Amino acid sequence: MKTTLMTDLTVADLCDGFVYNEYEGKGLFGWGGRLVIQPEYQRNYIYADGKRDVAVVDSLLKGYPLGLLYFVKTADGRYEVLDGQQRITSFGRYVTEKFAIPDKQGYEKNFSSLAADERARILSARLTVYVCEGEESEIKEWFKTINIAGVPLNEQELLNAIYSGPFVTKAKETFSNSSSSALDTWKAYVRGNEKRQEILREALRWVSKGDIDGYMARHRFDADIRELAAYFTSVIDWIDGVFPGVKDEMCGLDWGRLYETYHAKACNPAKTWERVEALFADEAVTDRRGIFEFVLGGERDTRLLNVRVFDPKETKAVYARQTAAAEKRGVSNCPLCAVGHEANSRRIWKFSEMDADHVSAWSQGGATDIANCQMLCKTHNRAKGNR
Ligand SMILES: [Zn+2]
Repeated sequence: MKTTLMTDLTVADLCDGFVYNEYEGKGLFGWGGRLVIQPEYQRNYIYADGKRDVAVVDSLLKGYPLGLLYFVKTADGRYEVLDGQQRITSFGRYVTEKFAIPDKQGYEKNFSSLAADERARILSARLTVYVCEGEESEIKEWFKTINIAGVPLNEQELLNAIYSGPFVTKAKETFSNSSSSALDTWKAYVRGNEKRQEILREALRWVSKGDIDGYMARHRFDADIRELAAYFTSVIDWIDGVFPGVKDEMCGLDWGRLYETYHAKACNPAKTWERVEALFADEAVTDRRGIFEFVLGGERDTRLLNVRVFDPKETKAVYARQTAAAEKRGVSNCPLCAVGHEANSRRIWKFSEMDADHVSAWSQGGATDIANCQMLCKTHNRAKGNR
């Protein structure tokens, strides 16, 4: 790989023919059409937050260096930004009047309202650019290792860079598009920021059953994302169909796995939702996020709900009462041992050898209060199972 250092480019050079696409949130071209600011493997513009974009312009006004920029020289003699897209897009948007910065008195100043010397200082600021030429694989390897100032790339952004190509381009058009009308629905179930590729990551995770890297490698040169999009839609439609309502707790559940496990099972959505609401109202349920899988699985696995356990003070009181009564009658303080014919039928267990049990199981409507609590020896408590 060959690298050359350029020190004579100015902000004005790169802003020549600067094109920003508001709709896609991308700085697209600059330097009179010679520079592709956001190649497909780059992340979307995320500096437009009134802080980082302002800081870039502020640095230029104060004469501070913006740091190294990395360009790749492509076979057709053009350049692509490898690192520096956020900074270039920030000053490009400022010079083309897309946002304003506050001056010392707090007045918003756009580019044209700056004093002439201030405008000149920005436009004439020199940039330091490393230009690399080489095989795609070398450049990608290098891109993986350079440390990007500010916000480091997350894993999916890195994978998008490594497997850049038609598939990633199409996938980003669908899953990283902030103006997509479907986004609100998706975000009810998928946690993440589409601009940081987190929705795409989840879509890939679902369809690949967790092997995102392998899936992207296999589909890298696909001209469409049919399977990815169809699978994602199936999961979302299934959630929508099974659960007629939406709860905050539904966001970020492992829907890919739940879909695989339960989508072939018949279900009555109205009844299902009635149960969801009832469990939400049950104060014994301490893990509400588990309610959805609990209901899907036929309400068998109460561990999903982390049902509230008895208070230790209560269990000690029950133990004392139960043990005193058992000693009087000369039987075991475990009621199930007491009715058996084994050696343990007269055994008095220590508190530490017993567990609290719902007399009437929680899943059958039994409450978690002292009136419904009994102490059983650990063996009998385990054997009783359904709690
Ligand atoms: Zn027992």
